[in-house]
Amino acid sequence: MAELTFSIIKPDAVANNKVGDILKMVSDAGLTIKATKMIHLTKTQAEGFYAVHSERPFFGELVEYMMSGPCVVSVFEGDNAIKRYRDLMGATNPADAVEGTIRKAFGASIEANACHGSDGPDTAAIEVPYFFSSLELVN
Ligand code: ATP
Ligand code: MG
Repeated sequence: MAELTFSIIKPDAVANNKVGDILKMVSDAGLTIKATKMIHLTKTQAEGFYAVHSERPFFGELVEYMMSGPCVVSVFEGDNAIKRYRDLMGATNPADAVEGTIRKAFGASIEANACHGSDGPDTAAIEVPYFFSSLELVN
């Protein structure tokens, strides 16, 4: 059954001009781009998005990093899209990510790790409407 997942191409990957490469990897993996746009997160938006990590020691740095430059946010669609995109992203720490994954190719560090993807149907259902209206889910 077709499923939606939410993605962020993070500021490091946008600054390094990797948006096209990453979206090509997504398309080559058989996922459809349902919506995409460039945004520059405010502090409030970055804190809200990663609120689940607000007690973690790296939260302050994570928020600063996420608002350090523009991001590209997208919705991808496909059968089992959430797990397929997580697999394509690779491990959180690029040093642990396997060959062929986005984080292996473009991640710089455990923080500046190129991309975010929803980790389950419940988070996708929150993250997609956090960034996109139903009118923007056009494809
Ligand atoms: P994401 O939620 O961005 O898809 P993830 O699910 O692989 O990543 P999480 O544990 O949810 O990993 O961490 C959220 C983000 O916080 C990571 O992607 C990374 O940018 C940052 N992060 C995670 N662990 C650390 C750490 N130990 N030090 C610094 N930043 C970290
Ligand atoms: Mg996560």
